[in-house]
Amino acid sequence: MSSVQNKIEVVRGDITKMATDCIVNAANSSLLGGGGVDGAIHRAGGPAILEDCRKIVAKQGGCKVGEAVITTAGNLPSKFVIHTVGPVWNGGQKNEKKNLADCYRNSLELAVDNLCKTIAFPNISTGIYHFPKDQAAKIAVASTTEFLSNSDKIDKVVFVCFDEDNFLLIKAELNILFLQSDW
Ligand code: ADP
Repeated sequence: MSSVQNKIEVVRGDITKMATDCIVNAANSSLLGGGGVDGAIHRAGGPAILEDCRKIVAKQGGCKVGEAVITTAGNLPSKFVIHTVGPVWNGGQKNEKKNLADCYRNSLELAVDNLCKTIAFPNISTGIYHFPKDQAAKIAVASTTEFLSNSDKIDKVVFVCFDEDNFLLIKAELNILFLQSDW
């Protein structure tokens, strides 16, 4: 268990600055850009990211909620951007929790498929999509921890929190995990 915990980090900051092998984008299903972290990634990474997104749209018509696709990172310091589509919060009875967990799991699987060892996540769905931040933090940490417990292919997962609330919530979840484990 300790090795899993050593692989998870939480920082406050801007994900576009991260030099991990890949960064994850909280995209929308059109893949054609939006606000929040999506806008920031396309602005900082330049037009090559949107070009790749358009190719994916032409091939498969966008990306479903909970799924993930991969593109170049353009001018960003990372090698790839993994675009995943978080659920819009609709009261919690519309599969939102499962869909959010799928975002983390499918992004990690796609990272492994592309030989990425290090990955940075934003707090998917907690902005414009209004997923409650405390529940989202639990799901982010639980799904990531589960993945890392079953695979040794990823060396580092960084949760890059843009706002203080998310930073404190992810940190609290990680602390619960530390305190509850036996090691
Ligand atoms: P969603 O539509 O999935 O809610 P948003 O982009 O609106 O996506 O918000 C997701 C999270 O990304 C929010 O917690 C927001 O504060 C955060 N965010 C916004 N810009 C950045 C950035 N440059 N780096 C990291 N996180 C960011």
